[in-house]
Amino acid sequence: MEQDNVSPLQHFVVAKRTISAVFHQLLEFVRDCSDFVEETWKSEDLEHVAQEKQCLQIQVCSRKLTAIKDVLARRHMKVAFFGRTSNGKSTVINAMLRERVLPSGIGHTTNCFLSVEGTDGEHAYLTTEDSEESKSIETVNQLAHALHMDRNQDSGCLVRVFWPKAKCALLRDDLVLMDSPGTDVTSELDSWIDKFCLDADVFVLVANSESTIMNTEKHFFHKVNERISKPNIFILNNRWDASVLEPEYLEDVRKQHMDRCVSFLVEELKVVDLNKAPERIFFVSAKEVLSARIHRAQEMPETGDALAEGFQERLMEFQSFERTFEEFISQSAVKTKFEQHTIRAWQITESVKAIMDAINISSAEKKVFSLEEREALMDRLEFVQNQLNFLTEDIKDKIKAITEEMADKVSNAMAEEICGLSVLVDEFCSDFSPAPNALALYKSKLMAYVEERMVKNLDLHCSSSINGYVLSSQGDIMDTLRPLLPPAARCQLHLPNRKFSITYDLNFASLCEDFVEDINFNFSLGLTFLVNRFLGPGKAKQALSLLEQKLQVTSSSAPLGTQAQEELAMSMATGLVSLTSRASVGMLVIAGVVWRSVGWRLIVLSVSLYSLLYLYERLTWTNSAKERALKQQFVDFATQRLQAISHIISSDCGQQVQQEMVAVFARMCQQVDKSEMELETEIRRLSARIQRLESVQKHSKTLRHKATDLESQLESFSAQYLQTQH
Ligand code: GDP
Repeated sequence: MEQDNVSPLQHFVVAKRTISAVFHQLLEFVRDCSDFVEETWKSEDLEHVAQEKQCLQIQVCSRKLTAIKDVLARRHMKVAFFGRTSNGKSTVINAMLRERVLPSGIGHTTNCFLSVEGTDGEHAYLTTEDSEESKSIETVNQLAHALHMDRNQDSGCLVRVFWPKAKCALLRDDLVLMDSPGTDVTSELDSWIDKFCLDADVFVLVANSESTIMNTEKHFFHKVNERISKPNIFILNNRWDASVLEPEYLEDVRKQHMDRCVSFLVEELKVVDLNKAPERIFFVSAKEVLSARIHRAQEMPETGDALAEGFQERLMEFQSFERTFEEFISQSAVKTKFEQHTIRAWQITESVKAIMDAINISSAEKKVFSLEEREALMDRLEFVQNQLNFLTEDIKDKIKAITEEMADKVSNAMAEEICGLSVLVDEFCSDFSPAPNALALYKSKLMAYVEERMVKNLDLHCSSSINGYVLSSQGDIMDTLRPLLPPAARCQLHLPNRKFSITYDLNFASLCEDFVEDINFNFSLGLTFLVNRFLGPGKAKQALSLLEQKLQVTSSSAPLGTQAQEELAMSMATGLVSLTSRASVGMLVIAGVVWRSVGWRLIVLSVSLYSLLYLYERLTWTNSAKERALKQQFVDFATQRLQAISHIISSDCGQQVQQEMVAVFARMCQQVDKSEMELETEIRRLSARIQRLESVQKHSKTLRHKATDLESQLESFSAQYLQTQH
């Protein structure tokens, strides 16, 4: 009884499913890796942690895997049947398929190869190489007819017959059976082999046990052996049912066939060891097996062939062939179809691992470098901040000291200028006229001249030395702060181009705005002058005003006596000489006293002399005398005012110096601030970069682990299905 055990062909089917799943994962994985490597390579802030060549390498891997995955999906086990026409190849295939799929008994109907493979559909159909059209075939007769109609096809073309898997268990397991036209009908063996045999896992030579293996058959297998390393060959001695006709020679004939077949496989082809060779040689009757199987499938009583003598043995031998063949083809196909791809997959994971390792190392190196760089920048930032705080106090003190020093310098220069003011005023020349308008013009010119000269002198004495001092102090500030700047900025550091010029804001016009000159004639022995001389200008004014009041009272209230008349006469006499002089009033009082004590002659003499002197002074009171008086009064006035504002001017100059120094210091501070900001930006950039590198490192490690996982899967696949170790 035939047993429906699990087919050995499942070995291939499961292996294919397993390796396809591994390749699917591998392809997804390599695509992930490709994206990761490309992104890492193109990322500018990572400075090419990954290389372009790695990117290309992994893309090539991805393309190869895609191609292999497609090839794997199409992979199937293929058995090719060869032998002379009418040896029973089609019958053997039909017996294996348990159904009349291929036409038999009519000779091979075409020169074409006929492959039979499963389809998931319900209907059988065929395709030919010259057309994409599928031709429906429901019965073997239709197929025979279709093939008959296609007799004109080229020799050596392929007709693919798709048979519903539901009808035939053997076809469910990715097996393709290929019938050939007959080794005796062609001379195009080489092209046949190239086209149909290179991917065959097993070759079955269907021989006729009624005769010996013919040379055409041997020649074909020699050719196959030349092209394929150690092809797997089975020999079916078909039509063994004929042996019952001469049972007495059965064992001898069998031995004879066996020896010849063994010799052919072992000695001629050298494809199998001597002890293993008998396992490849079977004595069967395909016709009987097919017939019995069809009967059983149709649940008909066993008749004819099934009842022939020795049928059960031949059936068992056919089943033995099938099982051995199935085990053999599935083992062999797994090895031939998947081994190379598994090795290739292994190489791909190895190269991906190498790339991930390289990226990991490169990102780790760059990370260390970036950490060191960031550390150095942070130290530098801390140093710059501390130094700036420390130096700022120092520089402020220096600026204060310089400001005071410069103010003192200007103050001393001012004192010298004030001393030399009379010389300056004397040197002024302009038309002088006592008329009010002309006098106002003269004074304004005088003030402008004195101011100009004084500013010029101050400039001469102070400016160049102050400027030099300011410049050198600014240079000192720059030198102090220069080390806090980055090297590139240090070179660009220069003192301001503009020359510092100090402004002396004397502003004589407003300073001497209230200067009022006194160029009226004043007799040197006049009362006003004398009082002025002896009492000082303030007290003299007071005394004179009291005296005037007294005289007014006397003249209005007292009765005029003789004495009084005399005094009045005397007063009138002296009033003739000087009606305007207040001094004469004083003189009148003194004259009255003297009149009584020294007598009139002496008085007349004195009065005469006094009058002469008055006359002299009055006549010499010219414009130039007035100008001199004005200049002297101006010198006195301006000296007083300049002394009062000297400290304001000098401290203003000190302020100007301070501003100039502070401006340079502020500019330097700005530069240092800018460099601090640049340092902070760079530190932030490096921190982000370190983070990115860490994530790249982590990702590359994860991908490497994934590659190792996939390698484990490949390893276990190899161990389970290929019996190999990587
Ligand atoms: P092919 O040309 O090699 O494909 O041979 P076929 O399968 O068409 O078979 C040719 C003829 O041989 C058919 O009439 C078959 O019935 C017959 N035949 C095939 N196998 C056997 C067998 O084992 N015993 C006998 N007696 N006849 C067979």
